[in-house]
Amino acid sequence: MKLKKLIALGLASMFVFSLTGCAKTNNDKLVGVAMPTKSSQRWIQDGDNMKKQLEAQGYTVDLQYGEDSVDNQVAQIENMISKGAKVLVVASIDGSALTDVLKKAADAGIKTIAYDRLIRDTDNVSYYATFDNKKVGQLQAESIVKGLDLANQAGPFNIELFGGSPDDNNAYFFYDGAMEVLQPFIDQGKLVIKSGQTGMDKVSTLRWDGATAQARMDNILSAFYTSDKVSAVLSPYDGISIGIISSLKGVGYGSTDMPMPIVSGQDAEIPSVKSIIAGEQYSTIFKDTRILAEKCVKMVDAVYKGTEPEINDTTSYDNGVKVVPSYLCDPVPVDKSNYKEILIDSNYYTEDQLK
Ligand code: BGC
Repeated sequence: MKLKKLIALGLASMFVFSLTGCAKTNNDKLVGVAMPTKSSQRWIQDGDNMKKQLEAQGYTVDLQYGEDSVDNQVAQIENMISKGAKVLVVASIDGSALTDVLKKAADAGIKTIAYDRLIRDTDNVSYYATFDNKKVGQLQAESIVKGLDLANQAGPFNIELFGGSPDDNNAYFFYDGAMEVLQPFIDQGKLVIKSGQTGMDKVSTLRWDGATAQARMDNILSAFYTSDKVSAVLSPYDGISIGIISSLKGVGYGSTDMPMPIVSGQDAEIPSVKSIIAGEQYSTIFKDTRILAEKCVKMVDAVYKGTEPEINDTTSYDNGVKVVPSYLCDPVPVDKSNYKEILIDSNYYTEDQLK
């Protein structure tokens, strides 16, 4: 009896030990990944790629989506801190709203990496993995120059401008990059902004929301385009392009007498690639989230091991407190002429997904 009890006790304590031992091992390599929203396909791919690649390196992953609510995202990060995450990877909803929670993380010895969107107003961000955001804007504008054939056509062409979310640092880089390319044509009078609405304070779209963009486009069309036609729309993101195109279709664009304007985009999301194939949206910018995740996972691993990750930019991303060492991946312009090569041949999408 006594012996049996002893054995039982021994087994029980072994069980408890193995449980805590196991929990400890998991926590030891726990990485918290906070993504902004599942309402956009790209972030689902980012989250999936990060999880898959981190797990392949032996990390455990707590992947959360804030669904575009800043409070949700802060609560999710707080939760990751209390679970004992060793490294945080954050694609912020509002880049300036994480100062307090990242102070808590730093106090707990946790390092943070900014994913795609710069985290502003804090010292507590170690690295930034992103794309060349200014180049994204330049490529968007260059696709408009190509679509309107501005090198050969005299114009003038009417264009309207849309920007991204004003709480996302990227939105300013996209807009500024695009304006570098468009401004000379505006100055020459080849491009005309009939609404007069320029500058991020007038053209931004809170939370990158397609419906907000659609409503603004409706207003612009009814106020400035009752007799004139719009020939191009600078759109910073595919979800916004969809809203703009719906608005344009609503007043008859996309027909023989009223051709669809040249509309740009970003992220090569499936509905927009289909729209490009159908001849509605003109272009998008492909950002290979597999490569971004790979670069970011290397940063996580370096931070975890206390080594130096690969970075290729130490000047562009001042977050208001410091310049955050960054790795910038290459964005690739996509339109009807090259989508197969860029998106299908690279195995990002199958042909069937785009049907
Ligand atoms: C990203 C873009 C994306 C946008 C909306 C930006 O921060 O860099 O790729 O289109 O957010 O989700």
